[in-house]
Parts: sequence; structure tokens; C-alpha cells
Amino acid sequence: MTDRSPFSLAGRSALVTGANTGIGQGIAVALARAGATVVAAGRSAMDETLAQVTQAGGTGHALRVDLQEAGIAARVVAEAAALAGPLDILVNNAGIIRRADALDFSESDWDEVMNLNLKANFFLAQAFARAALAERRGGRIVNIASLLSIQGGIRVASYTASKSGLAGLTRLLANEWAPHGINVNAIAPGYVETNNTQALREDPARSAAILARIPAGRWGNPSDIGGAAVFLASDAAAYVHGAILPVDGGWLAR
Ligand code: NAP
Repeated sequence: MTDRSPFSLAGRSALVTGANTGIGQGIAVALARAGATVVAAGRSAMDETLAQVTQAGGTGHALRVDLQEAGIAARVVAEAAALAGPLDILVNNAGIIRRADALDFSESDWDEVMNLNLKANFFLAQAFARAALAERRGGRIVNIASLLSIQGGIRVASYTASKSGLAGLTRLLANEWAPHGINVNAIAPGYVETNNTQALREDPARSAAILARIPAGRWGNPSDIGGAAVFLASDAAAYVHGAILPVDGGWLAR
């Protein structure tokens, strides 16, 4: 008999938001491959993600939900637990971006981004932690932050505000919930090839400038983020609280 790997997620259940595509899909598949039962939640069909989870030898469930809906967090956590068992892991991944000069930035582009990227993530974390405490269990929360949790960016005012806020929230929740055995951390992905960055990649000048600054010499792909999520969700990260882990091909080291 071998000892359980500290990176194993066997027997754990995980809720991943925005898991139909991009980084969320990469994380859902990585968690499932590490042994977790995954609930892939979002407003679009999860067929592709569930197929990849199955192909990886894992178990997954789909949960259709629009996280912009007010007051929905407790229901999402309860429905995910009904599908996969009491939740051990929450990955707050769903997020949107709106691009415009700050002088022209609209109130709706502000509100929509803040509502999803910051407010929905907070209340999902709250619902997750309330359930964990009620059942006397610990848990893992992994927030998907951004380089713009640390840097300023340009033409993405609400996105930078939301992701900088999410970094602060990660530290606050870590402070409050570490004593209860709930680890709250974040991943700050660099430039990853997903729908979120399509406009940047289609702009030859911006795309070339970004690539030139990445020491790894390439954009990231969703599976690059999966390993960090597995680590933060696993026993190997038991003493990691309130960290913002860059997975950026070296961008911030430049
Ligand atoms: P993406 O492909 O656009 O994925 C965003 C996900 O969020 C999609 O699954 C999307 O669902 C979901 N979503 C949007 N609005 C939702 C709502 N109201 N309810 C439920 N789900 C909703 O982009 P991504 O790059 O993978 O983004 C994932 C996370 O990584 C985001 O938080 C993003 O800010 C962050 N991030 C990305 C990069 C990057 O370079 N790509 C870098 C740093 C951080 P639909 O497909 O149905 O719209």
C-alpha cells in the first residue's frame, strides 16, 4: 500500500464556476484528473467539459446557472452539494471583461463586471463557508484573480477594480476563515488564450508587445492554470493562506 499523495483530490468534491470553456474548463479537468468529483457550473452547456472530465478518468456534473442573478449563491452551493456531496473546494473562476477608455467607460460596463467578478464571488465564498462551518468541515477556496490584481492595465477600469478587489478579498477571507480550516487563496493567471483575450490576440500590435514581454515566450493555455489549482486545493497547500499565486510565464518577474 502506498501513502496518499499530498496532491491527490480523491474523495473531494469541487464546484468550478464558468467551467464550460477557457481557464475554468482547464481547472475542472485538472481537478477531476487529480480525483475530485467536479460540478461544472455556468450559464452555457457543459458537454465539452464533462466529456474531457470523463476522458481524464474523472467524474463530473453540470449545473446551469447565471451568476449575475441576485441572491443565487446559497442555491448554487446547495445544488452543487446535492450533485457531488458536501463541497470541499470552490473555484471562483467565472469572470468577464469590458474594454473602453476610462473617459468613455459606461455605468453598465462597470456594474456588470463588478457584479460578477467581485460580488458573486464574495457571496459564493460566503455560502460555501457557511455550509462548511455548519458541517464542521474545512475547505478550499481558489479565486481566479489576474495580473490586474497587481498591475493597473489599460482600458479595463471595472476589470482592474474587480480583480484588485478580489485580491484584497482573498486576504480578508483568509484572515477570517483560516482559523476554521478554510484556506482562501487566488491564482493570478498571465495572458492565457481564451475568449477573454480574443480581442487582444486579434490586435497584431498589442499581441506582439505582450508576447515580447513574456519570458516563457508563449501565451498560456488553460491547462497551465490547472496545476496551480490542484495544488491550492490539495493537502500540499494546507499551510497556504491568502496567497496570490502568479501563473504568468514570468510576466511579473520582468
Ligand atoms: P472565458 O473563456 O471568457 O471564460 C469566462 C467564463 O465565465 C465562461 O465560462 C463564461 O460563461 C463564464 N461566465 C460569464 N458570465 C457568467 C455568468 N453571468 N454566470 C455564469 N458564468 C458566467 O475567459 P477565461 O479567460 O477562461 O476567464 C476565466 C477567468 O480567468 C476569469 O475570471 C478571468 O477574468 C480570469 N483571467 C483570465 C486571463 C486570460 O488571460 N484569459 C487572465 C487573468 C485572469 P459563457 O461561456 O457562457 O460566457
